[in-house]
Amino acid sequence: MKVLIAEDDLTSRTILAAILGKWGYEVIAVSDGQNAWEILQKADAPKLALLDWKMPGMDGLEVCRRIRQDSCNDSFYIVILTSKSEKKNIVAGLDAGANDYIIKPYDSEELRARVNVGRRMIEMQMELEEAKNTLAHEAMHDHLTGIFNRRAILDMLRRELSRARRNGETVSIGMCDLDHFKQINDSYGHQAGDDVLCGFARTVQSNLRDYDMFGRYGGEEFLVIATGSAGWSQEVLYERLRAKIDGHRMDTRSGEICITMSVGVAVSGDVETVDDLLGSADAALYRAKEEGRNRVVYA
Ligand code: GH3
Ligand code: MG
Ligand code: MG
Ligand code: MG
Repeated sequence: MKVLIAEDDLTSRTILAAILGKWGYEVIAVSDGQNAWEILQKADAPKLALLDWKMPGMDGLEVCRRIRQDSCNDSFYIVILTSKSEKKNIVAGLDAGANDYIIKPYDSEELRARVNVGRRMIEMQMELEEAKNTLAHEAMHDHLTGIFNRRAILDMLRRELSRARRNGETVSIGMCDLDHFKQINDSYGHQAGDDVLCGFARTVQSNLRDYDMFGRYGGEEFLVIATGSAGWSQEVLYERLRAKIDGHRMDTRSGEICITMSVGVAVSGDVETVDDLLGSADAALYRAKEEGRNRVVYA
């Protein structure tokens, strides 16, 4: 783990750097507060910092205060290491936002133990952060295909619709449903069916523009959201997707499987709400099925 030392006294700095290096830390040492502050602002900054109080220019407490001003910097573990030993100094140091306060001359065993506390806190914080990110990802993505899930794609649709209304743009949605998918499961097994769903999601995703949105709406139903300025035509997009799927062989654990899809398309403007738009797309999809499948029908 990286640790920052800010200490203006050369001898103290050298000894401290040597000890921390011996304990396995990757040491970055600077001689003043300004330098420390600049390093701590970098993206790959050490999360652990040992700051002397009295330094020329910016002192250690000021560095501490600046770090704590930004709530994004909660993850730093800051130790003030100083010869100022009065109770009021300790209080001021902790009030400035330090996590710990060590009085010089320090006992090296005590220092090791206290720095280890900091390391444990940082590691715990990082694990929590990772768990939080994993949960946030899982809340928005479909487990099987990895694309956005129903909740996420509907949230996007809500946002896109209100944005489009403000900017006078058009939003179109394509409700895509795999044709006779039950037969795939029945003939090749559920797992091969899962492979088809994954292959389908990958194929559609790779044939969309960066700013189109795509998610799993339910079982074998998927939703495409595309935006464009007035007069822009969606026909090309949905027909291109349909043709791509039609001509594509999906690799599955039961060999290659060909599928087709039916698409019901609805365009915003004449309808007001998300539910209306979804209802129109659904009705168009129903017609696409009735008219023989493997086609795009507009609401
Ligand atoms: P249609 O052309 O009318 O859409 O026919 P279909 O067979 O595709 O439609 P139906 O609604 O009868 O069947 C959908 C099937 O999709 C049934 C269900 O078991 C299957 N399915 C839904 N989710 C999954 C999944 O996650 N994995 C697999 N393998 N199958 C799924
Ligand atoms: Mg000093
Ligand atoms: Mg269906
Ligand atoms: Mg289907």
